[in-house]
Amino acid sequence: MKPRPAASRALTMPRSAIREIMALAAGRENVIHMEIGEPDFSTPDHIITGALEAAQRGFTKYTPNPGMASLREAIAAHVSARTGTKIGAQRVVITTGAVGGLFCALMSVTDAGDEVLIPDPGWPNYESITHLAGAKPVQFELLSDAGFVPDFDTIEAMVTERTKAIMMNTPSNPTGAVLPAGIMERLADFAKRHGIYVISDEIYEDIIFEGEHVSAARFGLDDRLFLVSGASKTYAMTGWRLGYVICPEDLAPVAAALIEPVASCASSISQKAYEIALAGPQDCVAEFREIYRRRRDILLDILGNTGLLPVVPAGAFYALVDITDRHAAQGSLAFAKRLLQEKNVAVVPGITFGPSCDRYVRVAFTTGDDALLEGLTVLRDFIHRP
Ligand code: PLP
Repeated sequence: MKPRPAASRALTMPRSAIREIMALAAGRENVIHMEIGEPDFSTPDHIITGALEAAQRGFTKYTPNPGMASLREAIAAHVSARTGTKIGAQRVVITTGAVGGLFCALMSVTDAGDEVLIPDPGWPNYESITHLAGAKPVQFELLSDAGFVPDFDTIEAMVTERTKAIMMNTPSNPTGAVLPAGIMERLADFAKRHGIYVISDEIYEDIIFEGEHVSAARFGLDDRLFLVSGASKTYAMTGWRLGYVICPEDLAPVAAALIEPVASCASSISQKAYEIALAGPQDCVAEFREIYRRRRDILLDILGNTGLLPVVPAGAFYALVDITDRHAAQGSLAFAKRLLQEKNVAVVPGITFGPSCDRYVRVAFTTGDDALLEGLTVLRDFIHRP
């Protein structure tokens, strides 16, 4: 007898179109990479050295499910100071990357058939995690004319009896939008009125060029907020897989328990590294930010007056570029493939980020200035003279 079928939940999980581009790019030489969503810097030396020393001293065992007590304290103090709130360490759960925090949050509050409001454009993992939880992703569109800021009148109309949570992301991947205080306040008001949870993904909180990062934690959402962030983008620590989620107090043990069957705990050495990162000098954070800002300005120099930039990115290290000028019928995946095959430039097809986004490709400024300048110039010319 043949083996019975594999799990339909796994087989039907939405996959991001970026994989196709990455696979194609991997098989080529001298590609200009504008598709990669991670810092191109190494983790600062003092963090690596401190973690290495800890490992040499034998700090290589499991930690409790929600993480080391001292790191939970440090994160609670860090977030409290930033947001002007009082967050207790018992609300902090340390996870395998921010993505682990998103997973714990969604698995803590959704049952099969529940609905989760997610942004379109938005990071594709929101949809896949919701799917794995057995819940239904309901996408709300962020309009470029509004600067990719959510419109709560539209979102109101999407709420049903089954709506459990809304996901928000500021600064945003892929739009680069930074949500202002007024919008975060409306988000809080919306969640309070409807009795739903807010899952606020703030992983790019330290990469801001204009305005300020406004955390959802500032708006009295303690009983319904899952605030997700971590080490990856701020300290160029993507490979260490270290994030956290700050939970409503009663749900922190629930979220922590969810880690047991999946990972037991986040890597102990990475936890130590993040503790060192938070306690140590912060110049590296400012240095990285200034490099991204300089690259963002290169983007503005090349695309600013072309009408191809729907909004100027104010944070994170991404921008959407409008390809409709010449490529409306083609779609963003076909466009990205052609750009790679014909010009050796890799970008992410917008369709990865939601159905509204097929008229765009996403570029990441996580590549050196010269390559970025060349890649953006090639992209601009390719849109105008395919
Ligand atoms: N959230 C967003 C919006 C991201 O873009 C990413 C990574 O690209 C993550 C979360 C995941 O971060 P981590 O690497 O810490 O899991």
